[in-house]
Amino acid sequence: MECLHGKPAANSTTSNGSFWFCGQNPSCNFFCTEDEGYMYEKAITAWRCTEQPHPRCDGHHKLAKMCVVKNLMNVNYGRPFFVCGEKAKPCSFWMWGDVQPLAKPECRHGLPCAIRKVKKEGLNKDRLFFCCPNDKESTCRFFEWAPDEELGFFQTVNFSKEPLEKQSCNKNNYLATKFMHDFANELKL
Ligand SMILES: [Zn+2]
Ligand SMILES: [Zn+2]
Ligand SMILES: [Zn+2]
Repeated sequence: MECLHGKPAANSTTSNGSFWFCGQNPSCNFFCTEDEGYMYEKAITAWRCTEQPHPRCDGHHKLAKMCVVKNLMNVNYGRPFFVCGEKAKPCSFWMWGDVQPLAKPECRHGLPCAIRKVKKEGLNKDRLFFCCPNDKESTCRFFEWAPDEELGFFQTVNFSKEPLEKQSCNKNNYLATKFMHDFANELKL
């Protein structure tokens, strides 16, 4: 198991089970249970395919923490995403880990927008939108839906029987598609 640094992850066993975590200093915030190791390995591979650097959160400019969608019923099952890694007071940073970050528009302050996710239950739940990065007191109330390209490979992959090489033209797509095929085969989709 490797952490996001690409270095061997440390392992520790407690009464709650076994865990993998980043053994480097500063830490890349990698952490998962031993059972989830395989899932995280896939998620990290998907992230590496995008060739983006380890994202930093908007609020603290610290390395973000990678998480994986663990709900089997969710269409995004297995996808990596990044959140703030601060334990005490996390900021609301959120982004998918398997797609190139979106070009952010500017809010009415002229600041690069923050990307947020709709948390309220309803039709737009989990949809991403751009908004003013300032807090409630000083927001300019800028709002814009993020384009659907932010949907990752999980939604766009085509599970046809065509050889993979014919389906995708560039290396990143190829790797991501191959990853999805392997994953789908395992899940017997
Ligand atoms: Zn690490
Ligand atoms: Zn933060
Ligand atoms: Zn603003």
